[in-house]
Amino acid sequence: MKTDVVIIGGGPSGLLLSQLLNKAGVETIILERSSREHVLSRIRAGVLEWGTVDLLQEAGVDERLRREGIPHDGCYLADEDQMIHIDFHGLTNKRSMVYGQTEVTKDLYAAQDRQGTPILHGVEDVVINDPKSDAPYVTCILDGTPTRIDCRYVAGCDGFHGVSRKTIPETVREEFERVYPFGWLGILSETPPANDELIYCHSDRGFALCSMRNENLSRYYIQVPLTDKPENWSDDEFWAELKRRMPAQSVETLVTGPSIEKSIAPLRSFVTEPMSWGRLFLVGDAAHIVPPTGAKGLNLAASDVFYLKEGLIDAIVNGDSTKLDAYSDRALARIWKAMRFSWEMTTMLHQFDGEDSFAPQMRKATLDHLARSESARRDLAENYIGLPY
Ligand SMILES: Cc1cc2nc3c(=O)[nH]c(=O)nc-3n(C[C@H](O)[C@H](O)[C@H](O)COP(=O)(O)OP(=O)(O)OC[C@H]3O[C@@H](n4cnc5c(N)ncnc54)[C@H](O)[C@@H]3O)c2cc1C
Repeated sequence: MKTDVVIIGGGPSGLLLSQLLNKAGVETIILERSSREHVLSRIRAGVLEWGTVDLLQEAGVDERLRREGIPHDGCYLADEDQMIHIDFHGLTNKRSMVYGQTEVTKDLYAAQDRQGTPILHGVEDVVINDPKSDAPYVTCILDGTPTRIDCRYVAGCDGFHGVSRKTIPETVREEFERVYPFGWLGILSETPPANDELIYCHSDRGFALCSMRNENLSRYYIQVPLTDKPENWSDDEFWAELKRRMPAQSVETLVTGPSIEKSIAPLRSFVTEPMSWGRLFLVGDAAHIVPPTGAKGLNLAASDVFYLKEGLIDAIVNGDSTKLDAYSDRALARIWKAMRFSWEMTTMLHQFDGEDSFAPQMRKATLDHLARSESARRDLAENYIGLPY
């Protein structure tokens, strides 16, 4: 087989990159380890920056998003019973959109199927060969048969545990990491959201988040120790603990019900540099992970896709590799700012085991400052709705 760009990973970044490249006349083949059903069963992000919405529009996959997505003009930070409103629209004239990652992925698969792009599921033993040469190729096992795909470029969109990042030699890669000593226990329930806007709750018992996917599908999280397991929590125990961490006025409007999904996600900040090596380019979770506190994971994957599709289209269609050469630097400049924001939100809202008596006072002072200062709220809003590409 032969194509312009082999894309490893059929998650949101691989699919969106492929869709945008195909629209510009660039050929792609996507290699995905899992079945489509498995990819679509993963419950993950739900808050889209408007830059992500615009990119999905450019990719021609925004029809259902515009119909079913819920624009959000703000969010709340709660410090015990004090609710601090962050008015995105009033402060920045922009908003965010609530629309599940699963739905984005479904829309992208449908668009790629209409386009006729080969998406090869169930591939094994993917190896990226000769990325430093002008003629890289990817080998894998497809339906039990060793397969080779020649290409001009390789996009590593295969998430944190994929092969692409590890293809870059350790002597070239520099990795930056912070592992947080807790995770988020999340449940999905077919109940109306407790509030029209997300509520990020700080309490002496730990962090909680009231989020949603649509009018009858809610997503709630509580901070738990890393040693905890979803099966340790009955639905009743989860709801009881969530209520203890929520502001009293929101507990009144909380509708509980059976969970339809329950899982624990560890929290980590991670960046690898550089994000390219020869003709291999890393995109999304393959290159970086943020704690979900700032709702940045999927949105950073989208901004990487933006920079890379510009570079690849210029190189392949116009013969100009200036932007492609600058891909890693352009993407990382934005990534580090989102890292800083996600770290700041995480530090401000969570309890850390073994912390000194100073730390809770700093959290309280930061939240109090946000409650009183419009410029502090504007800064948070600018970062939350997404810095410009
Ligand atoms: C449990 C969880 C909860 C999250 N919640 C949020 C949230 O609330 N808000 C937020 O903004 N972000 C959240 N994120 C992060 C967000 O989901 C990711 O940033 C986003 O999925 C990144 O997309 P991606 O396409 O880069 O990577 P992925 O979605 O990980 O996709 C990578 C794909 O590559 C495939 N793959 C891996 N290895 C190989 C291989 N060797 N060969 C072929 N294919 C391979 C995988 O099967 C997968 O389909 C969450 C992540 C997790 C794990």
